[in-house]
Amino acid sequence: MAIQTVNPATNEVIKTFDAHTADQVEQKLKAADEAFKQWKTTRFEERAGLMNRCAQILEQEAEKYGRIITLEMGKPLKDSIAEVQKCAKVCRYYAENAADFLKDEEVKSGASRSLIAYEPLGVVLAVMPWNFPFWQVFRFLAPALMAGNVGVLKHASNVPQCALAIEEIIHKAGFPKDVFHALLVESKAVDAIIENPIVKAVTLTGSEGAGSKVAEKAGSEIKKTVLELGGSDPFIILEDADLEEATSVAVKSRMVNTGQSCIAAKRFIVLEGIADAFLEKMKEKMQALRTGDPLTDNCNYGPLARKDLAEELEEQVQQSVKKGAQVVLEGGREGKDSAYFKPMIIRDPKPGSPAYEDELFGPVAIVFVVKDEAEAIRIANDHRYGLAGTVFTGDKERGLRIARQVETGAMFVNAMVASSPEMPFGGIKKSGYGRELSYIGIREFTNQKSIWVG
Ligand code: NAP
Repeated sequence: MAIQTVNPATNEVIKTFDAHTADQVEQKLKAADEAFKQWKTTRFEERAGLMNRCAQILEQEAEKYGRIITLEMGKPLKDSIAEVQKCAKVCRYYAENAADFLKDEEVKSGASRSLIAYEPLGVVLAVMPWNFPFWQVFRFLAPALMAGNVGVLKHASNVPQCALAIEEIIHKAGFPKDVFHALLVESKAVDAIIENPIVKAVTLTGSEGAGSKVAEKAGSEIKKTVLELGGSDPFIILEDADLEEATSVAVKSRMVNTGQSCIAAKRFIVLEGIADAFLEKMKEKMQALRTGDPLTDNCNYGPLARKDLAEELEEQVQQSVKKGAQVVLEGGREGKDSAYFKPMIIRDPKPGSPAYEDELFGPVAIVFVVKDEAEAIRIANDHRYGLAGTVFTGDKERGLRIARQVETGAMFVNAMVASSPEMPFGGIKKSGYGRELSYIGIREFTNQKSIWVG
């Protein structure tokens, strides 16, 4: 894919970038490796000072960077600004807590003294997606730098200006120049980067296919990976739920980022006694949403990030309907040259169809009507993904009990799934492995070293 900024609201090509050559990549990797030797010796207080400065820049210039996000991937400007502000939070969180998370842990053993030390690994490659083009990167970068690692980024080909803006922010904050580099490369260049002995580990957020390829290469090189992949999160609504609240959260969760979020609720599993009322309210709330030019209008949703993504979603819906899903709310593409996609609701897709088996990465709610709680849990777990999920009920204990039975990396009771710096984030099954955020995330790319004193 060409490395270029295309405004998805207009399909206008704004800017095309030349990919870095293999030699340029090698130079940047060498510089990062050199920077690591010094960076790993810095004190936590020094790193924290720079990370807090980074947070300040993100806060002060949230609108400027938000505009770049919206221009490249189409989410409404206010959401882009909120994304930049959230990045500041993760910077501050790790600035404040990294020293504590990575301090030596004394352990009782047969030794006179034994401890676990958390040491940085070196250059970590991050392969990142376009959907939250700042947040996904900072979620990796803030803990990585605080742990004493250095980072190189291969960002999605449609968000090169975001990649360069992040590099600019890191430099403006005063970090040594080579502790972070954006590599403008296509995905076919990634294998060679993983093979380079300078690269010590890889984190990828993106699709299952990309995760599998990158993990295969990293595995052959015996390099650690963290994979944050796709999801088709269940959202269970029990008969005792507050329907008004549940449907508001359901619509918000399905429509976050114009439906292009790994942790957006995608499969709504509702008990039959309340199904009609649920569908009525969902329809009403989805229909009330407004679209427009994400840069100028105060709209609820924008275009999808690329026209081909809208085409793919349309195809998935058509296949699902052909195989027996019913359309509850009409919607879909707004013309064959458009990346805009009007929200839809479909129900009861059949096993073997895309809406049942795959991830629908856009504003299409898939509803399953089930007879009881046991069937709700069975449907929730009948998927190859296991990222996160929600259960809505008037009984929190019941919600907690169900939360423990759903096979995902996270469950939310009476709340929308969202990531926050304090809680570990990641999936099971084909949604990936490893965790980001919290004290667990910062330790992923450390050498968890046992030290034994006899
Ligand atoms: P994608 O096509 O997999 O792209 C993600 C990144 O991987 C991009 O930088 C892409 O580069 C690169 N890439 C693609 N194929 C590759 C290969 N064979 N080798 C090396 N790199 C490769 O995913 P996307 O369409 O951008 O993002 C949507 C997917 O990401 C969804 O499935 C979503 O659920 C998932 N996601 C997961 C999380 C999570 O935390 N679990 C968060 C956000 C998104 P190019 O752009 O150059 O192809």
